[in-house]
Amino acid sequence: STPVLTIDGPSGSGKGTISRLVSQALGWHYLDSGALYRAVGVAAGWADLDLADPAALVRCAFDTRIGFRDDERGELRVLVNDLDATDELRTETAGAAASAIAAIPEVRAALKDRQRAFRQPPGLVADGRDMGTVIFPDAAYKVFLTASAEERAERRYKQLKDKGVSVTLDGLLREILARDARDAQRAVAPLRPAPDAVHIDTTGLGIAQVVERVLALLPP
Ligand code: C5P
Repeated sequence: STPVLTIDGPSGSGKGTISRLVSQALGWHYLDSGALYRAVGVAAGWADLDLADPAALVRCAFDTRIGFRDDERGELRVLVNDLDATDELRTETAGAAASAIAAIPEVRAALKDRQRAFRQPPGLVADGRDMGTVIFPDAAYKVFLTASAEERAERRYKQLKDKGVSVTLDGLLREILARDARDAQRAVAPLRPAPDAVHIDTTGLGIAQVVERVLALLPP
């Protein structure tokens, strides 16, 4: 069957950047599962849905159209109900909304088939929190990326500053720690490595070094 490489880890561990580069190096498809949760969270906000109304959020998870496309510069753009929401999806507000709706089991179930549909020849690199544990437990290759919270906050800070978003490093660190705690403690799909995942601590490593380590796990 079509090979899958799962890359799970906390926010800011470098998953997104690494997964995308690895997928490009392999010529495999790429699934940014966090973008699906973010998209549903943002769509729920647009529709003014109550984050405490699970039934409405589940309907939103089924009904929201989510599309991915590469722009001229090779950057991944995300369309939510046909609108380019890429920049809005990157904000910590969208991350927090994603984290809130991602704690609802029925929302996770609603997104399951959509995620599995990305498994297409010649292969898939799947980036998220539960790719190796829940969505693709049979994946041949599994990675769990970590980095210190300080380094993750710094990376997010640089990313957002480059986008012109005004944030403080301190505020980001606090938000990241709060989101990590919620993601780790929630009853459904808590963030934890698959037993067969290879751990890579990216603290102090450059992007190219991490990509190299991940690619080294696959047969040449
Ligand atoms: O990876 P990203 O920061 O975009 O994910 C946003 C939020 O979506 C996470 O904090 C997490 O709560 C949720 N998520 C998840 N399962 C995934 C991907 C993301 O629960 N596979």
